[in-house]
Amino acid sequence: MVIARVALDVPVAELFDYAAAGHDLRPGHLVAVPFGRKRQVGLVVGLAQHSAIPDARLKRIERVLPVEPLPEATLKLIHFCSDYYHHPLGQVAFVALPTALRRVGYVAARASSCFALTAAGHALPDEQFPKRATAMRGLMAALRASGVLQESQARTVTPRAMALLREWADRGWVQQQLAETAQVPAAIATQGPPLTDEQQSAVDRITSSLGSFSPWLLEGVTGSGKTEVYFRLIEKVLAAGRQVLLMVPEINLTPQLEARFADRFPGARMVSLHSGLAEGERCERWLAARSGTAQVVLGTRLALFTPMPRAGLIIVDEEHDGSFKQQDGVRYSARDLAVFLGNLQQVPVLLGSATPSLESYHNARSKRFGSLRLTRRPAADPPRVRMVEVGGDLPPHGLSNPVFDAISGRLARGEQSLVFINRRGFAPALMCAACGWAAECSRCSARVVWHLQDKRLRCHHCGHEEGLPRVCPTCGNQDLRGLGQGTQRVEQALVERYPDAKVLRVDRDSTRRKHAWQAIREDIHGDRAGILVGTQMLAKGHDFPKLTLVAIVNPDAALYATDFRAAERLFQQLMQVSGRAGRADRPGEVLVQTRFPDHPVYRALMAQDFRGFADELLEERRRAGFPPFVFQAVLRAEAHDERAVEAFLARSAGLVAPSPEGVTFYDPVPATLARVAGRHRWHLLVQSGSRAALQRLLSAWRPRIAEGRSSRVRWSLDVDPLDL
Ligand code: ADP
Ligand code: ZN
Ligand code: ZN
Repeated sequence: MVIARVALDVPVAELFDYAAAGHDLRPGHLVAVPFGRKRQVGLVVGLAQHSAIPDARLKRIERVLPVEPLPEATLKLIHFCSDYYHHPLGQVAFVALPTALRRVGYVAARASSCFALTAAGHALPDEQFPKRATAMRGLMAALRASGVLQESQARTVTPRAMALLREWADRGWVQQQLAETAQVPAAIATQGPPLTDEQQSAVDRITSSLGSFSPWLLEGVTGSGKTEVYFRLIEKVLAAGRQVLLMVPEINLTPQLEARFADRFPGARMVSLHSGLAEGERCERWLAARSGTAQVVLGTRLALFTPMPRAGLIIVDEEHDGSFKQQDGVRYSARDLAVFLGNLQQVPVLLGSATPSLESYHNARSKRFGSLRLTRRPAADPPRVRMVEVGGDLPPHGLSNPVFDAISGRLARGEQSLVFINRRGFAPALMCAACGWAAECSRCSARVVWHLQDKRLRCHHCGHEEGLPRVCPTCGNQDLRGLGQGTQRVEQALVERYPDAKVLRVDRDSTRRKHAWQAIREDIHGDRAGILVGTQMLAKGHDFPKLTLVAIVNPDAALYATDFRAAERLFQQLMQVSGRAGRADRPGEVLVQTRFPDHPVYRALMAQDFRGFADELLEERRRAGFPPFVFQAVLRAEAHDERAVEAFLARSAGLVAPSPEGVTFYDPVPATLARVAGRHRWHLLVQSGSRAALQRLLSAWRPRIAEGRSSRVRWSLDVDPLDL
């Protein structure tokens, strides 16, 4: 009898056996099976002749979902991810599967038609449609962005979409096809700028490695032309009939890149995949990648698991970004897995960044990664970075006069300024001037943040909210003050100071509503904003041509952080935000308002010297025995009862006493944020100079931890943790 070994989305490491009679199965098939009292979709990971379960008790596979099985490379990736991060296979398998494919009743969408832009359609000038014809313009923009539009996608653009598309088909601008087998017109790249020598050399070296595995680190400041390098490589890969996976840290970055891509590769089919898509749409795009009709898959970390049968190149842009590491559930690093996947598929993996992670930089220095560098900006001068030294006597809004002066100058010239402050809300603390009381979250070991507009105190860790107290709850004093600055406070100060200028705040609060981000982008590009106030949301990857000043107003706090990665992160963030200044033909200036202008982080920023800074940090890490010179894993635990957490970790540590050679166990300690939403959080760090030794330990350890599971304590293993 044929038995199928099935992985299910349940928190146990075991696979489940089902009788496969009557189905023609292969590993990679999705199947509907009975599980407990319900039915569930499972992934067939293997076939066998025998099962430990007696035939009579063996349940049967009910149906095979009508989708092509996952390709072998995707299955191997899932296995590796499960092994390396020590997380149940079933949960890994389902982490990135579109929700539609997790439904036992999934039926393939009825063969719908789609419309592909023809060369004639692409050649239409922008003036073809009058400005007021927004439906037509929107539809054409959508077509240009993805080359092919499904009926359903077209309808989301305008209710008149089908009528318009039929009319355009008559004129030869689009061609109607069956969605399943849509033939994308050959991708013809329009010409980019002539490459600089450095770009050319990067392109040449990676090109010569196409068709086999090699990891590359492309190090180049913002505006040095990394994207241009990606485009040249994509052109070659598409011309060879293969697919490209392009990963970016943030969903907000995809529209800009999509537009640039569409402009460059008219007719090529790019699909973007991220968690913000509607269920059907995500599934459709995933299937297009699976079938190979999507030539480029653009997405955040989840996109890594998208099956691409003809992959030819993997690119991870802003590879240092923390968002490539999943922070709950399966705590995988999409960047690290990308390198593994490249090896599986025998394709080059290109990691790009202005400020590579020390891990990747170390890999490049020690020749495990090929090293490529872009040192100049072909289209702009590097920004001038200036320190503004301040003392403790700043006004409550925290802005110094030199910063105001610089902004005034930009406004007078019709240029944009960005004030960068990495905290949202009005003030990070509400304090009593008489007794020193500060408002804290009742459920977390953290202060609550004062939000101005809705007059609330809000906890940024658990979401807890309360009204503003009128008097101090400990001494009754009425003089309560906001301490420190958030984006709202800076915004208020700027609005007061420049009543005629348009001040635009960009943070998680101001972009929460759907399409808010799109509107903000239009304001910024359409000259309707003179001053931007923003958190790191604005720092990443965006191109604002009229922005010539970046003022970083309160970066010092990160200098006191206990996390050994704090300096690395601060530098990455500062380099990134300073890269926003002066991208086009106007020189940019960066002001750093600090009490410590001579700090090495700021000096390196002034010199725009990543390597000098990174070399020094690496040397410190080597001496102190920190990653990337050692390998770490963390057992995290949390519960309402703090003693239960401690006891759990102590017991877990005891499961492997004495600890194996070459592996160090540290004592359990409270997490930096010791309590969140009423739960106490502790962790136990395990470390080794050998990745293999650490992996061996984890393989033996995890099942034993799982055996003694206590229902009161939530726990997880985090391999290669980014923070503690
Ligand atoms: P990055 O991705 O490193 O930030 P981009 O590829 O976006 O850099 O390039 C920054 C700007 O420089 C873009 O406007 C791009 O069109 C332009 N650019 C890139 N390469 C060249 C080149 N070789 N010659 C002229 N302009 C270039
Ligand atoms: Zn008080
Ligand atoms: Zn809280």
